[in-house]
Amino acid sequence: MKLQVSKITPEPAVWHVHTRLDRLPRLTETAGPQTATLDTDLNVRLRGDSIVVQGRLTLTLTLPCTRCLDEVPVEVDTPFEDILVPARQNTGSGELQLSQADLNVSFFEGDFIDLTELAEEQILLALEDQVHCREDCRGLCPRCGKNLNREECGCAAESSGHPFAGMQDLLKT
Ligand SMILES: [Zn+2]
Ligand SMILES: [Zn+2]
Repeated sequence: MKLQVSKITPEPAVWHVHTRLDRLPRLTETAGPQTATLDTDLNVRLRGDSIVVQGRLTLTLTLPCTRCLDEVPVEVDTPFEDILVPARQNTGSGELQLSQADLNVSFFEGDFIDLTELAEEQILLALEDQVHCREDCRGLCPRCGKNLNREECGCAAESSGHPFAGMQDLLKT
């Protein structure tokens, strides 16, 4: 979905964004292939030379648990506010960014703005670093790689206590 800059007015207009998440390359790279669809209405208006985009992103992603790698549904529900400033105003002095430090300010060039790309950026910002399938996920055995939520592997019983004991011996030599 591309916004045509010359058609944006100070009166808010609603733009509908509808895209399959697997069409978003950066999200797919970060979060793996997704099956859900992004479906949202964004309010777009002109304020001075800048374009204000506001809305809310609500979607469900599938992310791997950082401990056991099982896939976990993760709800994303985040407000979306972007101020798009013409790139010619980016003088490099930093004043503009500082005065609007609490807002998402980005620059645009030309007559078209890709709303899907903006939404992708917001989803990436909202992604949690630590996804766990459950609070007490036991993760994978560092030795044999078995999922310890599902089975005991016996490696812990064999080891001399410290999980990296063997590695420390290696480092000494
Ligand atoms: Zn897990
Ligand atoms: Zn094991």
